[in-house]
Amino acid sequence: MKPIVIVHGGAGDIPDSRVKGKLDGMKVAVRAGYECLMNGGSALDAVEAAVVPMEKDENFNAGYGSVLNLRGEVEMEASIMRGSDLNVGAVTLVKEFLHPISIAHKVLIKSPHSLLGGEGAKLFALKEGFPPVPPESLISEHAKQALKNFLEHGDFGRTEIGSSDEGGVGTVGAVAVDANGHVAVATSTGGMSGKAVGRIGDTPQIGSGTYADDNIGGVSTTGHGESILKYCLAHSIIKLMEGGLDANTATTKAVNGMTARLNNTAGAITLSKDGEVGVHFSSKRMSWAYVKDNKIFYGIEQGETLEEDYNKN
Ligand code: ASP
Repeated sequence: MKPIVIVHGGAGDIPDSRVKGKLDGMKVAVRAGYECLMNGGSALDAVEAAVVPMEKDENFNAGYGSVLNLRGEVEMEASIMRGSDLNVGAVTLVKEFLHPISIAHKVLIKSPHSLLGGEGAKLFALKEGFPPVPPESLISEHAKQALKNFLEHGDFGRTEIGSSDEGGVGTVGAVAVDANGHVAVATSTGGMSGKAVGRIGDTPQIGSGTYADDNIGGVSTTGHGESILKYCLAHSIIKLMEGGLDANTATTKAVNGMTARLNNTAGAITLSKDGEVGVHFSSKRMSWAYVKDNKIFYGIEQGETLEEDYNKN
């Protein structure tokens, strides 16, 4: 099996001013995941490796740069799934760590539980040696501006999340298939600007934000969380593939089906177990990238596929 990794940097009404930063961040992330796979890393290690740089990059709504809840705080969520044994790890309501995805990975490996939240996630992370950071250090100027815009004009649950919010969108995710044919998926987010304190979205919920099964493939989603979780979007795509649809048709059908039924937008990235790619979004934009045959394929606009040599630089 030729290893492959695909990443996304969030679906929504991404303003023009954020397009370049997101595309640059996509390339950094997909390279990090691909290098891991090329060095013999597992799909599980590769999806974490791809997500970590995006959690550090304020162009994305994950880790540093996460959007703020109504009290002006960061509350992050992440999930990761291993397709070989369907094992999962997820965290929610995380406030004091830069890399929720790494804590989720540790939950998968070390905890008898699947999803830890709030105080419990914090205790687990501290016990596992993750360094806490001051919660304010995760707040970017763009996120403050996005909350301010939301408080002035916002309507939580609007179709195009992030409209006119400079830092409003940018959940991140990665899907990989490694040389041994194992599938893994990771997704990480700060949620939605102006969310209620304690709101939990789709991202940490397995089957909504994330799903991986070695027998079928893997999916990471982004977009309007309350809609994605009602539709179990990631698992809906997996089920369509199990029924015989190819990765791209399944992704398109489920994302459009969710939008038709619930009148909110989303996007998803998908790999089949054979490394076939699916990318679709019903929002205005979604940044994505994958590596194949020594080329990076990437895009952010509807119908757009750009490419560059992997060895450029
Ligand atoms: N799905 C995320 C949430 O609702 C937001 C996003 O993907 O932009 O928490």
